[in-house]
Parts: sequence; structure tokens; C-alpha cells
Amino acid sequence: MMTSSLKRIVKSSPFLARLAVPAFRAQSVALSHMPIKGSIPRFEGRARMESPVFRSKSEYDAWLSESADQRAAERAADAAAVQPGAFAFGLEGFCSICNAPTVFVTSMEYVSTDADGHAQPNWREHLICKGCGLRSRVRAALQIAIQDLGMRTDHAIYITEQFGPTYRWLKGRFADVTGSEYLKPGSPSGSRHMGINHQDIQALSFADASFDVLMSFDVLEHVPDNAAAFREIARVLRPGGRLVLTIPFTADRHETTVRAEMQPGGAIVHHLPVEMHGNPTDPINGALCFRHYGWDALDKLRAVGFTDVTAHLYHSADLGHRGDHQLLISAVRV
Ligand SMILES: [Zn+2]
Repeated sequence: MMTSSLKRIVKSSPFLARLAVPAFRAQSVALSHMPIKGSIPRFEGRARMESPVFRSKSEYDAWLSESADQRAAERAADAAAVQPGAFAFGLEGFCSICNAPTVFVTSMEYVSTDADGHAQPNWREHLICKGCGLRSRVRAALQIAIQDLGMRTDHAIYITEQFGPTYRWLKGRFADVTGSEYLKPGSPSGSRHMGINHQDIQALSFADASFDVLMSFDVLEHVPDNAAAFREIARVLRPGGRLVLTIPFTADRHETTVRAEMQPGGAIVHHLPVEMHGNPTDPINGALCFRHYGWDALDKLRAVGFTDVTAHLYHSADLGHRGDHQLLISAVRV
């Protein structure tokens, strides 16, 4: 994920951006070889997070009606925490990853309006802990992986990223961590560029049943052939292996919304306005978002060989998780 300072340069001057990107990439490469050492959090006491879990949209809808008052109060509290007019603001809380009090930093980029008409920042991409530098959705995924799914240091872990603090955090705590980036279209998976492992998730280079845990954070929406990616994820996990997935998730829709499709010849057909996301390997252009997932993503995972396919809801103002419908997915390889 690119830094906001680079984003501002890219927006203000394409000329400066072309100068800044190679330096940014060199820094990303250098940092990716520097693990951030520390202990594995235990998530006890104030650090513990209880996440309601759901197997389907109907389970989630039932929970939504039961918890309507509680969620309205949370939305109001989240909206009240926003500091209008500020480019960015900090909120005090407790980071369960750092196991320490911290300040969570949020910017007002990508503000949306909630069910009650409040302005809400894009909380899942923000609430960045000043201690570990990790954003809300990543901290939630790491906590659920360790606390609820039993990720341990003797597990072989694959994460579909190698730039940024998440890979470095894992590498500094777990013995067997493989990361990768999608660096050069057309290059074979497993080739190395600048010392970075290039992998196309539609055709991974790893042997069958290579990993105990596979983590993929906001990558799959950028992959043209989603069915191939799901099959590859299932293939490289061992029986009993765990998948931890964050994707743009539309909680009120069963069907995945296809925004764009790649034709067999490589041409892209857009069904909806083009949506680009920040991309650490191509900060100028970003990455095209092909789809926003619905609950049918859980069915698709079941169809390729996963069981216990579960959506976990995370919300804790104290632990730096705000916003409605914050869901991530886990599954167990059959
Ligand atoms: Zn932290």
C-alpha cells in the first residue's frame, strides 16, 4: 500500500511521480528484507476481541436485525470520533498487536455516508496504529488468525504480499513465512525481480499442499480469473490448512458484483465505472478492481474444497476497529 505522501506527489505532478516511484520501489524492496522482530501477541485481557461469525447472508441478516440498536449506537460513536476539517486525526486506544496503548491515525480520504447520513472515513483502510503501522483490516485479520484460528510459529505461512509492514511483521515472529508480489505480467511465478518473489495467484509455482496458512489481504479483487485463483489457493494449502482472506465485501448482496472482466484476448470490458486501488508495485496507475464480493464468495470457496467457511465481524472502538459491516473470511482446507 503506498504512503499518502507518495500519493500526494503522484496526484500533484506526474513528472515528480516518475522520479519518486523508483526510489519508493527501492525502499519497499530494501525494507521487505528487514523483519520487524517481536513476540507473538497473546490477545489477553484488554487485547481480546470477540468476533461474531456467520456462514451465510441469512445468518448475517438475522444478526443485523437483532443488533440494530447496538450498531446504530456504534455508528453514532464512530461518526462522533471524526474530526471534521482535519486532513488526518488520531484516536487513542489499545493495539492488541502491539499489546500497548496507542494512537490510531485516520485520514479523511474516501469518506462515505452511513445508513444514518453520518460522514464515515474508510475505517478499514485507516486506524493505522502508530506503534506497528498496521491498518484496521490487517490487525483484525492477524488477531483472528492467531486468536481464533490457531496460527502458530511452526506453521508454514504464505502471504500474497511482500511490500509493506504486514509481511515484515510476520517474518519477525513466525519461523516459516513466504511472501510474494505480482511484479511483472508474463513472468513465470517463482521468478525473482529485485530479490522479490513474483507470483501470479492464478498459477502459483508452489507444490500442492505446501502451506498450513494462506493469508491474502485485498488482492483477489484485482485478479482477472477468480475461479483459477480460488483453485490455486485450495491446491497449495494442506488438509486442515487455514485461509484468511480480506476482500472488498458487499454485506447486503449475495451475488458478487462484477465491475470489469478480461476477455480471452486480454481486452478488458468495464460493466461499471473504473475503480482503481492503491498498488505498491504500480503506484502511478494503481490496480484495477474487477469485483466487489458478495456472500456467494463463501459458496465458491466451499466448491473448491474448503469447509468451515466463515465471515468474521470485527468492531471495537478501543482496539481501533470502527465502521459498519467490517467482515473478513476464513476457511479450512478439507
Ligand atoms: Zn500496533
